[in-house]
Amino acid sequence: MQTHDSLSAMVQLAAETRAAGKTIGFVPTMGALHEGHLDLVRLAAKKADVVVVSIFVNPTQFGPNEDFDRYPRDLEGDLAKCETAGAHHIFLPGRGLIYPHDYSTYVTEESVAKPLEGESRPQFFRGVATVVLKLFNIIQPHFAVFGQKDAQQLAVIRKMVADLHVPVEIVAAPTARDPDGLAMSSRNAYLTSSQREAALVISRTLRQIESMVAKGERRAERLVAEATHILADERRLRVIYVSIVDPATMQKQITVEPGNSLMAIAAWVDQTRLIDNILF
Ligand code: AMP
Repeated sequence: MQTHDSLSAMVQLAAETRAAGKTIGFVPTMGALHEGHLDLVRLAAKKADVVVVSIFVNPTQFGPNEDFDRYPRDLEGDLAKCETAGAHHIFLPGRGLIYPHDYSTYVTEESVAKPLEGESRPQFFRGVATVVLKLFNIIQPHFAVFGQKDAQQLAVIRKMVADLHVPVEIVAAPTARDPDGLAMSSRNAYLTSSQREAALVISRTLRQIESMVAKGERRAERLVAEATHILADERRLRVIYVSIVDPATMQKQITVEPGNSLMAIAAWVDQTRLIDNILF
């Protein structure tokens, strides 16, 4: 496995790999890697000849009062994990490469990005779409793997790729969870054991709603009300949103459409913002 921090190294890698008739699979990350990230790397390794992982804590997707400065960083651990999971190349761009001092071009998806996360984090998807398109242009992958854990991010990237004719196939990987049900997240490192206990109500709620849907409940209003009720039992949790939406457009649904519905939850556990979702 090799690490690279220059634009020229990556452009050369893409040119040589493509000239040799090999495929490039790409996994963009912000580091502090866990098994969820590694599932993405393993999936990329199954599908592609050459696997590139990027590690870049992208400043433009953080709001002014968010956790950019204290976002967990563990480069040494990340490199060891990537190698075990089957990555061939790690791209570690400096901030100045991605955003030089005169940088002024941004990508805004204006529909899928609006509700849910877009309401409470207005800068978020602009930052994500911009950095992902830049990384696609640098790495020139045949496909890129994203986690279902960040369902709206996945939908925004799919929409950007379709709208801008970006020649990259987007592959989704299922949400990886700890044995207690908590969706893996780099931000889980912020949680104390009692906060973690409180956070478990989110995945418990999603499972409960999933079973109501399996038993035939289709009314989104009823399902959202029940979810809100279960979440309210946990005093340390402050719900930001609970919604049932179309997984491609993120528009609210009135009736669950089996195979094409998503319940998304965002909540604060004290100072830590967590998101999770389930497809039904
Ligand atoms: P991040 O480093 O948090 O920006 O995430 C990088 C990629 O890993 C994104 O595509 C995420 O959706 C994905 N990811 C993060 N957590 C999980 C998880 N628990 N399961 C699956 N994918 C995940």
